[in-house]
Amino acid sequence: MSEYVFTPAPRPAAPVEGGGLFPLRRIFCVGQNYAAHAREMGGDPTREPPFFFSKPADALVIDGGGAPYPSRTTNLHHEIELVVALQKGGANIPAAQALDHVYGYAAGLDLTRRDLQAEARKTGKPWDLSKGFDFSAPLGLIHPAAKIGHPARGRIFLQVNGAVKQDGDLSDLIWSVPEIIAALSTYVALAPGDLIFSGTPSGVGPLERGDVLVGEIEGVGEVRTRIV
Ligand code: MN
Repeated sequence: MSEYVFTPAPRPAAPVEGGGLFPLRRIFCVGQNYAAHAREMGGDPTREPPFFFSKPADALVIDGGGAPYPSRTTNLHHEIELVVALQKGGANIPAAQALDHVYGYAAGLDLTRRDLQAEARKTGKPWDLSKGFDFSAPLGLIHPAAKIGHPARGRIFLQVNGAVKQDGDLSDLIWSVPEIIAALSTYVALAPGDLIFSGTPSGVGPLERGDVLVGEIEGVGEVRTRIV
């Protein structure tokens, strides 16, 4: 029997409201899923097929922990998002059955090195490291769907130092949660423990060290972090 050549890192996990830990597998994210944000990013807010990117699972920041201002950027941006936590996997999941795969929901932040992303977009290069870096995914408590249901509407907003910067409604999602799961599962076989960040409303903007972020999604919960 083979043994690890060094001790493996513990599996990332996210606390569930009411107790327990959600064992994390992967973090997927949807790009430009609110029309007003697609427009502010220079995109076309029509129902083009959704596009996806990912973050490492250990980018998660939990329990209101601080997120260090990352290296290699001078334009770190906030994106408040509804996060979907999967308890069941599969490929080619029909939208009509997609919600059976959902364990619960959380509020999360898709922190973004906007300057690196803009450069990657301009030069046609991958934007992985503009999105997937250490501490780039602060996450609030996961609230089981068994308790809160499957929210399809409700205010989603983010305050930075007490001022509202992003303000939208889940009903404005271009692609709904079932449609996101269905589309993503045509690219990869989804698995229990996967998280999906579902996109951000308009109002994204730069952060500075010391900023205090409080995001809230009506009917879901909160996410808090501080840029340190
Ligand atoms: Mn995002």
